[in-house]
Amino acid sequence: QTMLQKHEKDPYPDWTAGTPVPYAALCKTFSLIELTTKRLIIMEHCSRFLRQVMRLTPDDLLPTVLLMINKLAPDYAGIELGIGESLIMKAIGETTGRSLQVIKADQKEIGDLGLVAVKSRSTQPTMFKPKPLTVRGVHQGLMGIATVTGNGAQGRKVDGIKKLLSSSDSHLKEKVDITKDKGGPSEAKYIIRFLEGKLRLGLADRTVLVSLAQAVVAHEAEVKGKIPSTTDLENGESILKTVYSELPSYDVIIPAMLQYGIANLREHCKLRPGVPLKPMLAKPTKAITEVLDRFEGQTFTCEYKYDGERAQIHYVSKDAPQGSGVSSIFSRNSEDLSKKYPDVLEKLNTWVKEDTKSFVLDCETVAWDVTEKKVLPFQQLMTRKRKDVKAEDIKVKVCVFAFDLLYLNGEAVVEKSLRERRELLNTAFAPVEGEFAFATHMNGQELDEIQTFLDESVKASCEGLMVKMLDGKESGYEPSKRSRNWLKIKKDYLSGVGDSLDLVVLGAYYGKGKRTSVYGAFLLACYNASTDTYETVCNIGTGFSEQVLEDLYAQLSQITIARPKPFYSHSTGGQHQPDVWFEPRYVWEVKTADLTLSPRYKAGWKEGVDPAGEKGISLRFPRFIKIRDDKKPDEATSSRQVAEMYRKQESVTKSKGPSVDDDF
Ligand code: ATP
Repeated sequence: QTMLQKHEKDPYPDWTAGTPVPYAALCKTFSLIELTTKRLIIMEHCSRFLRQVMRLTPDDLLPTVLLMINKLAPDYAGIELGIGESLIMKAIGETTGRSLQVIKADQKEIGDLGLVAVKSRSTQPTMFKPKPLTVRGVHQGLMGIATVTGNGAQGRKVDGIKKLLSSSDSHLKEKVDITKDKGGPSEAKYIIRFLEGKLRLGLADRTVLVSLAQAVVAHEAEVKGKIPSTTDLENGESILKTVYSELPSYDVIIPAMLQYGIANLREHCKLRPGVPLKPMLAKPTKAITEVLDRFEGQTFTCEYKYDGERAQIHYVSKDAPQGSGVSSIFSRNSEDLSKKYPDVLEKLNTWVKEDTKSFVLDCETVAWDVTEKKVLPFQQLMTRKRKDVKAEDIKVKVCVFAFDLLYLNGEAVVEKSLRERRELLNTAFAPVEGEFAFATHMNGQELDEIQTFLDESVKASCEGLMVKMLDGKESGYEPSKRSRNWLKIKKDYLSGVGDSLDLVVLGAYYGKGKRTSVYGAFLLACYNASTDTYETVCNIGTGFSEQVLEDLYAQLSQITIARPKPFYSHSTGGQHQPDVWFEPRYVWEVKTADLTLSPRYKAGWKEGVDPAGEKGISLRFPRFIKIRDDKKPDEATSSRQVAEMYRKQESVTKSKGPSVDDDF
């Protein structure tokens, strides 16, 4: 409490009503958040600050929230900083007049580039006092860095960073002691961390969302001279959560909230074509019986699980009442794939019935064999170029298999039951052979029927089945959720651990024998969302062809770093260190025989799987399957999911125990 009060009194003489929010004030809040791990306190700091922004400078609410979630714009805008460690070091060196060698040595010793910047800065006498940074200025500066292209882009990015760094911390009177309080509220530290993509405050995006709702509710009450009730706060939170799940764009939501108030937000911010939703995801299961247990007493439906690329297709016809025409395809993580699928986009209007003027579809694009008229394996789809594809050059044709409808003719339909959405889908669209089809489905509820359908799906080159709740409220579309109302059964689950894992490549070992000029094995990690760290889970050296190893070497040798990032959680035993470390960038799909506890890895070590809290979970006999271009590192399999898989396997092994005895 005292800490909170102290923060409230903190003087920012330049920050008065209507003036830009000082970046130093935001950094102060960051530094307070960094000192605690308690979610409620974090939320309190965050919402107090946002409330202050609302009081004094509501115009800066958007950039403030964006800087808090380490983003410059919504995902679909495709704005990426694209800055590696070496550029950052160059900028720190050039700003502070220290050589790259010295910066590298510091980095080796301190391990945290943010703190390296603070240390470099504090030894430098200031010749003149630059203008203090503001939140909107930092946002603009970073945006400039992210969007430079063309000749000399790298150099201009470095210049952009230098500009921010040289104006940073001019308000600090004393040298910052980096050994104390994690380096304190230094601006340079948080700028560098933003550039690295990890603020490491333990401030989850969800916490910012809830804090924002609280701040807005409290502020609106204050304006009316009232104190908000718990119900007001809960309502505000629920409104903002729903709105954000349907329209995940602060760029749209925040201005609307300021204009109309949080209570009216749902009316003004609805799902809309052009803004992709985070897709609904499924939980893995290991047996049809598990599916039957889960859905006991409720109706469900089975669909083929196509093995292609998830695609969310948005469309508004030019003559629709609401507007000017939209046609876009978004990936699983909201990346705009329109340049990859011009052939699909140009056909959209031929799949619809006459009355269908706008829609958002959830589908899978699958490679299609035009002569045999059947689905081709996923590998074929991967041979398509990702960018600047010309429709006439396309060799691998795709067929779009639609399995859900989220929006139709001006209205969101996510809250309708799956049965109703499916009916709408059937009435609004007309399949075209080899171009557009409805996912094959079957509504039988019996084990035998499901088994037969699963076999058929495999024969049709699918991965298995998706089993979904069909009726009632629970069968609504739940954006961004891995829901128990959608279960997946993959053909090769039935014997293994349930699912493949998607893991981040953190390091590598040079090969032996024939493989000495490439990496022969790699260190992989899962992602712990609550601590924002990557926890190591296995070494992998199987499943790679010689060609793949060469390609991986070419790709990964570009992103090596001098030492592990401070947000890597790994064993520090000398003999277990990889030969090289990487930036966290690539996600690979990996299969495993089973999971086991090991002192050498850290996956899920805080999830209570090892009573002593020391061992992590590791994969036995992991095997490389493919690169997952459609996942970002923080969308990798989470530590909690790994722990869930491990527990499930344990309970299966245990429950199988006696029956094995019975057999003897
Ligand atoms: P995985 O990691 O299993 O490859 P994921 O994590 O990307 O998948 P999941 O929700 O686990 O996502 O699996 C569902 C995926 O299967 C969807 O993202 C979609 O791409 C694909 N899919 C294929 N057919 C269907 C279908 N009929 N219904 C829903 N999703 C389907």
